[in-house]
Amino acid sequence: MTIREMDRAYVAHTYNRFPVEIVSGQGSVVRDSQGKEYIDLGSGIAVTSFGIGDAEWKRAVTEQLDQVQHTSNLYYTAPCAKLAQMLCQRTGMKKVFFSNSGAESNECAIKAARKYAADQYGQERFTIITLKNSFHGRTLTTLAATGQTHYHELFQPLTPGFVHAEANDLAKLTALTEQYPTAGILIECVQGEGGVIPLDAAYVKGVEKLCREKDILLMVDEVQTGNGRTGELYAYMHYGVQPDIVSTAKGLAGGLPLGATLLGEKVENTLGFGDHGSTFGGNPVSCAGAVSVLSRIDEKLLSEVREKSRYLFAAFQGAPGVRAVTGLGLMIGLQTEKNAGEVVAACREQGVLCLTAKEKVRLLPALNIPMPLLQKAAQVILGVCAE
Ligand SMILES: *Cc1c(COP(=O)(O)O)cnc(C)c1O
Repeated sequence: MTIREMDRAYVAHTYNRFPVEIVSGQGSVVRDSQGKEYIDLGSGIAVTSFGIGDAEWKRAVTEQLDQVQHTSNLYYTAPCAKLAQMLCQRTGMKKVFFSNSGAESNECAIKAARKYAADQYGQERFTIITLKNSFHGRTLTTLAATGQTHYHELFQPLTPGFVHAEANDLAKLTALTEQYPTAGILIECVQGEGGVIPLDAAYVKGVEKLCREKDILLMVDEVQTGNGRTGELYAYMHYGVQPDIVSTAKGLAGGLPLGATLLGEKVENTLGFGDHGSTFGGNPVSCAGAVSVLSRIDEKLLSEVREKSRYLFAAFQGAPGVRAVTGLGLMIGLQTEKNAGEVVAACREQGVLCLTAKEKVRLLPALNIPMPLLQKAAQVILGVCAE
């Protein structure tokens, strides 16, 4: 059996895989089983922040692997404590709960919001408002949070207590908070899976103000936008707001599974002993990877991300076959005249790996992709769009 046959025979058919078997890579170049090389503009969906096999990251991870690979949360470990300190010092948040994925980081956010509201106002204040077209994960609760009904249909009943509001409509959002006793409002500053769509700056400011006035928790899902992806450490920083809860995962540990829920002043002690937990959460190897990743996301790297972003916007805006460019930092959506899936397939043939998001081509290159590689890849995409 070939690998492809074996995968089709034994792996659940929940993914429509591209016809490529990746075997190795270095930095922003990956190699398939035929020896063909690709410039990677997907980073495993915004995960490999510094590309494949980055030497500094690998050293941090293997050093921890040589010490101890797992201990459970019954014991202290240095990488977990150090990472929590780094996250708090760089965000002003007060405590961190570690898990293993984006969905779990949102689960913790939702549990913290519900418990805070119940503690302060009683158990009927449990509603979490999220936005239409959002994406928050695949567990039954984070599916309920996800504001796209086509994900919901096959899995009823979902966790109750979620209401979806039209993005960028503050009046409607305010009305919903009057209709439903609301514990929290959960937003992605740039909707990722929804099509790489940044929220309006005034709207996000307005959401923060509404939350402050009503003691509703402002919750920001930074699973995709976080950890330098948008040209700030977290996307909310572009908007000048201070969330009460931030969830993140994807790029945090540079390619190892790790989720983190950052808890602000109001909720730092909301979850107490026994209220939440995770066997793998805060795994020392993942945390060592994340300490290495975060320590490198400094002002210099962030300004490079913003510079590469400006380059991509300039290269694609108004280009033949490109209708619109959206996004923030190195999270870019291209509205193309051709079908996005066809653009991605043609780029792949020509050695460039891209993603889609809804009807858009989505680019999520490594934060440190060398400029010449980015330019080369952009030329390929421009060529495909113009054909
Ligand atoms: C990917 C994603 C998630 C889910 O993350 P998993 O690690 O797949 O559970 C949640 N929210 C956003 C915004 C995402 O992009």
